[in-house]
Amino acid sequence: MHHIVIVGGGFAGVWSAASAARVRGDAAIRITLVSPGTDLVLRPRLYEAEPERALVPLKRILEPVGVEHVQATVTEIDTAGRRVVTGDGEVLAYDRLVLATGSQLIRPQLPGAERVFDVDTLDGAVALRDHLRGRTGFTAVVVGAGFTGLEVATELAGRGRVILADRSAVVGPELGDGPRPAIEAALDRLGVERRLGTTVTEVKDGSVRWADGTWSEADAVIWTAGLRASPLTAHVEGPRDRLGRLEVDARLRVSPDVFAAGDTAAARLDAGHVTVQSCQYAVPMGRTAGHNAAADLLGLPLIDFAPGPYVTDIDLGGAGAVFTRGWDRRVESTGADGKLVKQWIMEKIHPPVDDAEEILNAAAYVYVVIPGAREL
Ligand SMILES: Cc1cc2nc3c(=O)[nH]c(=O)nc-3n(C[C@H](O)[C@H](O)[C@H](O)COP(=O)(O)OP(=O)(O)OC[C@H]3O[C@@H](n4cnc5c(N)ncnc54)[C@H](O)[C@@H]3O)c2cc1C
Repeated sequence: MHHIVIVGGGFAGVWSAASAARVRGDAAIRITLVSPGTDLVLRPRLYEAEPERALVPLKRILEPVGVEHVQATVTEIDTAGRRVVTGDGEVLAYDRLVLATGSQLIRPQLPGAERVFDVDTLDGAVALRDHLRGRTGFTAVVVGAGFTGLEVATELAGRGRVILADRSAVVGPELGDGPRPAIEAALDRLGVERRLGTTVTEVKDGSVRWADGTWSEADAVIWTAGLRASPLTAHVEGPRDRLGRLEVDARLRVSPDVFAAGDTAAARLDAGHVTVQSCQYAVPMGRTAGHNAAADLLGLPLIDFAPGPYVTDIDLGGAGAVFTRGWDRRVESTGADGKLVKQWIMEKIHPPVDDAEEILNAAAYVYVVIPGAREL
């Protein structure tokens, strides 16, 4: 019997599995998803006050559609021998592999790095929540004023003093000029302080040292700067981008037997753009890679990756959210309207559970148009 092995149980892995199961129908293809945890972790929700709400049990998605789950960490991929090896020594042979092991925060290398918190993983987010639980009047230093740093800083604002730091001279350096006035207005409104053009160089119990040698009080330091593709990408041959992502073709193929999806893969969208590490791409990439892995084994036509238009929606805590469309990030809504769209997105990223038909139908959609606040 043919075997599709999907490594990773995030958005890309789960939707690869559901999509492959949909294309398989009654055909004799075994589909196995390997991931260390028992849950799909909705990483975009980890900055919220209760990170456990970001969990969806994998068995409620995989079991109804006949996908096996091996709870393990893959430590080796042997593309020549078409097999993966887990940390427990289990060997899984595959006919088609989908690599969907996501990305991880680049942890800082500095004195006191062990005291630094993050919201990159469930464990990290829970540790931060527990550290600050029931406390007010604390000082939190959030390093990185990008998407995640802005969401963490604005979520914590109001409970304590928040200092948002970035090496760049502006907040949201990668978000461009479009949303910046709305972001700055929200930070002002929430009283989030900024330390720009600098970074933290040392963390002690209760304080941080800045690049200029001065110290500030800090009860918590939260690092959000810098994501890199999973180290497992190094086990697959092929060109990579500066984030360590494998370059894939329009069908999300790295090589004849290997597909990559989500944060492990860089897919070209047009002459000037490649996918951004985000769930808005991980979901349709997963659906496309899973579809193609199964279709290829069945001799059916493969599909090209065709995502919806690029959008961003940054949660700004008590100041709402800023929603943009297009690569120039034109602001479409701010404040409560932006938040309405954010809430819609946060609901939509929850996959259906328990009902096989609903899960398989959802796996068919590769193109989702995000409505504006007026349509909601
Ligand atoms: C705080 C935060 C906020 C975010 N906000 C947004 C947002 O608003 N909008 C947006 O679009 N994106 C957002 N993102 C980014 C988004 O979460 C990621 O792009 C998305 O999760 C990528 O999905 P993925 O399936 O590729 O990888 P992941 O979600 O990283 O999942 C990877 C999976 O692979 C598993 N895995 C890893 N290594 C191995 C191994 N060796 N063996 C087996 N399994 C392994 C992991 O356990 C996990 O199950 C945010 C991320 C964070 C951290």
